[in-house]
Amino acid sequence: MLPKSYDFKKSEKKWQKFWVKEKTFKFDPKSKKPIYSIDTPPPTVSGKMHLGHSFSYSQLDFVARFKRMRGFELFYPFGTDDNGLATIRMVEQEKGVKGTEMRRKEFIKLVLKTLKVVGPKYVKDWKKIGMSCDWSIYYTTINEHCRRISQKSFLDLYKAGKIYRKRTPFLWCPECQTSIAQVEMKDHERESKFVYMKFDTSVSKPITIATTRPELLPACVMIYVNPRDKRYKEFIGTKAKIPFSSREVDIKADESADPEFGSGAVYHCTFGDMDDVEWMEKYKIKPIEIMNKDGRLNEKAGKYKGMTAHRARNAIMEDLRKEGRIDKTEKITHVVNTHERCGTDIEILMTEQWFISYLDLKNKFLKAGKGMKWFPTYMRSRYDNWIKGLKWDWNISRQRHFGVPIPVWFCEKCGEILLPDEKDLPVDPTEDRPHKACKCGSRKFRGDPDVLDTWATSSLTPQIAAALFPKIYGRLYPMSMRPQAHDIITFWLFNTVVKSQMHSNLNPWNDIMISGWALDPKGKKMSKSKGNVIEPQEIIEKYGADPLRFWASGSKLGDDLPFQEKDLITGKKFSTKLWNASRFAMMHLKGYKPKRPRRFTEIDKWILSKLSNIIKVSTEFFDRYEYSKTKAETEKFFWHTFCDYYLEIVKDRLYNKGSYEKWEIDSVKYTLYYALLSILKLMSPITPHITEEVYQLYFRKSERDKSIHISKWPEFDNSLIDHKAEKVGDMAVDIIASVRKFKSENSISLAEPIKYVTIDSDQVKPVLREIQKTMRIENIKIGKAKGRETENFKIKLEIMK
Ligand SMILES: [Zn+2]
Ligand SMILES: [Zn+2]
Repeated sequence: MLPKSYDFKKSEKKWQKFWVKEKTFKFDPKSKKPIYSIDTPPPTVSGKMHLGHSFSYSQLDFVARFKRMRGFELFYPFGTDDNGLATIRMVEQEKGVKGTEMRRKEFIKLVLKTLKVVGPKYVKDWKKIGMSCDWSIYYTTINEHCRRISQKSFLDLYKAGKIYRKRTPFLWCPECQTSIAQVEMKDHERESKFVYMKFDTSVSKPITIATTRPELLPACVMIYVNPRDKRYKEFIGTKAKIPFSSREVDIKADESADPEFGSGAVYHCTFGDMDDVEWMEKYKIKPIEIMNKDGRLNEKAGKYKGMTAHRARNAIMEDLRKEGRIDKTEKITHVVNTHERCGTDIEILMTEQWFISYLDLKNKFLKAGKGMKWFPTYMRSRYDNWIKGLKWDWNISRQRHFGVPIPVWFCEKCGEILLPDEKDLPVDPTEDRPHKACKCGSRKFRGDPDVLDTWATSSLTPQIAAALFPKIYGRLYPMSMRPQAHDIITFWLFNTVVKSQMHSNLNPWNDIMISGWALDPKGKKMSKSKGNVIEPQEIIEKYGADPLRFWASGSKLGDDLPFQEKDLITGKKFSTKLWNASRFAMMHLKGYKPKRPRRFTEIDKWILSKLSNIIKVSTEFFDRYEYSKTKAETEKFFWHTFCDYYLEIVKDRLYNKGSYEKWEIDSVKYTLYYALLSILKLMSPITPHITEEVYQLYFRKSERDKSIHISKWPEFDNSLIDHKAEKVGDMAVDIIASVRKFKSENSISLAEPIKYVTIDSDQVKPVLREIQKTMRIENIKIGKAKGRETENFKIKLEIMK
């Protein structure tokens, strides 16, 4: 009945097709079942799925499949995140165009058209790992639906007074020519020079300032020394002259000047770092903006105009040297903030940006974090620490051509801000016109050319997905669970909480499931540049999706897991063992109609009781997202208790039915049927293909459910718990192991009989026949025995060949 071996290539493809065709995982909005909704992370369409994806999405899918079998109606969408830089690059490459040379509307159209072709190919990889989403609930974050929701979020927050526009110093990438967020910065350690520069002062001697950025000299607005620093007492209140200019700046006392750092005197430029911004605000200083958006110095830098920061640094140092203004230079290694995406040093520039005002809501967000269940719990501290360390409001505008447009017009005459009507969303203000005149009467407008930061949209995924079913929106949002990796807690997760709290005072989800990373075999992060990338597509080709998922289930939620090929082999062996055990059972259960007998033999009671325990703990583990423990317990039970012992013990009953009573046969058949079906179900979230194959080939006829994945999760049955039988069965196993050992020590094959075994324990009386038949013992009895002791129960045995 079951073919001799399991053909994973054929099987996996077959069932993936079957699930789609039969709509096995289709969400039914009319269902009366409680809904379990998942805020599936939308990956960015670029290249192909990487191992980390296959790792974390598998873990998410374990939970989804478990919940479905537990009786929930799954709302399990799939979207892609396509309004950022990666998408621009992908489409430009694919189509041979330049986004900035096209009208934005046209480029968005082209993106959507390209995604229609590229998207399904990309998503295929997710289907191949066996994800059980409802693929028809699909969105891309640049489509009309998402643009509308994202722009509506902007309008709502603006109207609530939570969005403001301000010209302010902010993090700027001169390479990408856009503002960036705090989270997009990456620390980069670099060698640099600490330059000690001498400035003339209004007292007789010069003051020495140490800096790594001498090129900002033309933007120096103040000099600070610590009031307790004796070296500089006489300078406080005097003035210093800026070299190569006629400007003079005040020398002030400020506690934040560190006497131990450099020369102890610091110069305040606009802007070298965020301290400079704080000082500017503290002393109400007007900044000198010497840098343009492309990172070059402007006319305010005098003769250094047109130079990049790097070139200006060398030129200024040269000039300082000529005038004898350099005391010394020191080589140092320091940490520089760079743009994560392009590696360019971040500057701080005054630009006009949109902000969501939220620094005043820190406590609300901290409280929100406590209101959700985090799995694993310790991950919440990352969220808390991030909030505590927040320094700036959320800058949501980006100076990019492509993205969700900021839905705002400015009146050319009076500068008034005009917003579109909600019913007209989505709009592109650089092309669409407002329907009304400004209150000054003018009809001349300038559309905001900026776009929203991609996180301003992806922070709305729960609302985006739920809004696809407007009639039951309230049942889908807030969602049951957000799964995601730990590295984006500070932005995707946090920003989603921000939006949800600001819009509706609700948490976006009840539970948060945080997965770790897949690492290379040495425990290092995989990256293309390191050349240590392992591709899941190759693994699936070679081993199949089930072993890949089996591997992904080996790590505790939240933990990183080094990739080991041997884990795939273990997964593969598990599949083979499961197949063979099923094949054996099917052979003996041909035509069997499952009916629970009134009476069970002791050994059947033993396995049923053990199985019930496994079902109980597996369910509890899964409820806490601890799929790795469910898998470990079930695997151990299946491999050792069920295959190594139970199947061996019942062989005689199954092969020699005639020498047993009917109730004993009824007992073994039911037990075998029930135990195997339960094992398949327990493993089905982890290895969905092989379990479906066995289910369809044998169990479906009697169980009736169209798929194992929509069948009922095994229920804990207290009436099957039998502590006495468990002990007796374990003793039998202990004795069998001992006799096996005896046979192997004496080079007797398992099939060969042995003469005598005397067991010094009358507790095993009910399973004596099983021990005898399993080990082919000609004479077995209970009585005083001299000889070896069993390992666990220390039962004395006397064995004769
Ligand atoms: Zn950049
Ligand atoms: Zn106006």
